[in-house]
Amino acid sequence: MTDSPFCVKAVLFDFDGTLTKPGSIDFNLIKRAIGCPAESFILEFIETLDDNIKREKAISALENFETKAADCSEPNNGAEELLLYLCSNGLSTGIISRNSLESIKRAFHNFKKIKFSDFDVIITRDDPVKPKPYADGVILAAKKLEVDVKELVVVGDFIFDIQAGKNAGSITVFLNNGIEHDFSDPDSDYTISQLGELKDVIRQGLPLSSGKSAKY
Ligand SMILES: [Mg+2]
Repeated sequence: MTDSPFCVKAVLFDFDGTLTKPGSIDFNLIKRAIGCPAESFILEFIETLDDNIKREKAISALENFETKAADCSEPNNGAEELLLYLCSNGLSTGIISRNSLESIKRAFHNFKKIKFSDFDVIITRDDPVKPKPYADGVILAAKKLEVDVKELVVVGDFIFDIQAGKNAGSITVFLNNGIEHDFSDPDSDYTISQLGELKDVIRQGLPLSSGKSAKY
């Protein structure tokens, strides 16, 4: 937990399990389908495949799983209300995901109040930057949003989200969704159990003196 005051100008969200309800994508099933060892991570495993045909097949299988997951994904509890709140307080918003851009666009068909185009920046594995946990995507998002990385809050439900945010020097918020994980809580600045709690974090960093007070 951070003690130092901060100023928030933008919020960057992970997608699966953060803006959407957890569980729509079964990573273990994908791993088995593409022959990825259980202890490895999918994108990093695909990178190690030096046979082009095997690699293309693995990418195609991953994309098929992502498409199906996108079709049945739902907005996470409080996600749409939170995004409206952030917009009404003049904050920029973005998404940073290891998914394809296409699967994220598709998942937005299941959102009602928020559209894909409401986000100021969306960074996916289709962008030419190293994926989370590297800081590169967060730094690129900050640049596109024209904010300092220190003014950016990075929110996610996995260790890589927090590592990427910390590696970039941003404020980090771990969303545990009120469920048990098979990993220990990462060393984030804040931990919340549902997205609505993010308002309390954001309120601490809003520039009240600029005349923009938190709205509820
Ligand atoms: Mg996630």
